[in-house]
Amino acid sequence: MRESVNDTATSAATTVLGRLNDADALALYHDLSIHELGRPAFARAQELHPEPYRTYVVDRNINYANVCTARCTFCNFYAQPGAADAYILTHAQIGRKIEELLEIGGTQILMQGGLVPSQSHPSGHGLPFTWYLDLLRFIKKNYATIHVHAFSPPEIWALHQVFQIPLPDVLRRLQEAGLDTIPGGGGEILVERVRRKIGQGKSTTEQWLEVMRAAHQIGMKTSCTMMFGHIETIPERIEHLRRLRDLQDETGGFTAFIHWPFQPEGTPLGRWIRPPEPSPESQASRPVPDGKHLYLADAHEYLVMLAIARLYLDNIPNIQSSWVTMGPKIGQLALFFGANDMGSVMMEENVVSSAGTTFRLNEDEIRRLISAAGWRPQQRDQYYRPIDPSRRRTAPPVVS
Ligand code: SF4
Repeated sequence: MRESVNDTATSAATTVLGRLNDADALALYHDLSIHELGRPAFARAQELHPEPYRTYVVDRNINYANVCTARCTFCNFYAQPGAADAYILTHAQIGRKIEELLEIGGTQILMQGGLVPSQSHPSGHGLPFTWYLDLLRFIKKNYATIHVHAFSPPEIWALHQVFQIPLPDVLRRLQEAGLDTIPGGGGEILVERVRRKIGQGKSTTEQWLEVMRAAHQIGMKTSCTMMFGHIETIPERIEHLRRLRDLQDETGGFTAFIHWPFQPEGTPLGRWIRPPEPSPESQASRPVPDGKHLYLADAHEYLVMLAIARLYLDNIPNIQSSWVTMGPKIGQLALFFGANDMGSVMMEENVVSSAGTTFRLNEDEIRRLISAAGWRPQQRDQYYRPIDPSRRRTAPPVVS
């Protein structure tokens, strides 16, 4: 078996024998060491990206609202409508954040929020559909060159449900107002057994995929994600990858895959579900998630899943390193396990306002990590096209 799995992995790297099926992927997970997985995954990434550089994007994460009607047990961000700490940013506040981004050479915003109820919600924390359209028009009018990567599938599904507007119309109207691409947030694990347990009130697997399909059908590119290392089993991780690969076969609309381990600090899921009692058996070998206990993923598990994703997702061109959750060293190592992109130099407001740290430092660190790994660092746009440094924009006058 071991020999045949090695053959499968090698052939996946060279595309001689075609794509992996689910049984192949499971065999890779269970039978190969991290080193045996890393080699073909790196070869596959090199084959897809022979260019002498590895990329990154300079963007800003703007969370326009933390008000949310869902109750995801892995989330410590949301506030219930009417809660004292609930907020919705104004368009002007969002505009100021974009100006700060432009000042450091940023090219896009990643804008996401909770599932905000309609304006008629008794809490007073609600929005009309026109708020989203006006926001996009405001951004495009005042910051025309900024790429708007915004509204994950659960948010878009909520707009469709709350305002009773057909899904294609929601997407078309957002696109006409200025939405460029959609982030893959809210994917978690695309298996209903898992979603029912961790994402109460949030879109189902089919709804998440339906939003992505509808976006791709109007020519809108999206990314896709996986948050793993909680209560899912290994076959469920592979099922998640299969759902993404199948949709990509159909539409070709995913630009990139990004995966990261669940971060349990302060979350209900981290408190309620305990890790299994250690046994001599699990100490001697890699424990196998059973779907009942919490199996947090460490750096080793992250790299193993990265390599398997690179080999299995043969139709998704880019995979990002998740250095934000894994740290810079593992983030750099990811470039040798199938990733070809260092993701985002994400501008954090608290860093700017308190410590006085500049984003240029953050960008320099990313560039240094790429250089030290042996590639030329290259800033890119959301379509993974290199950006000429001379084309960087400067901030326009402040808009009131
Ligand atoms: S949908 Fe879930 S993950 Fe997103 S803000 Fe609401 S509770 Fe958090």
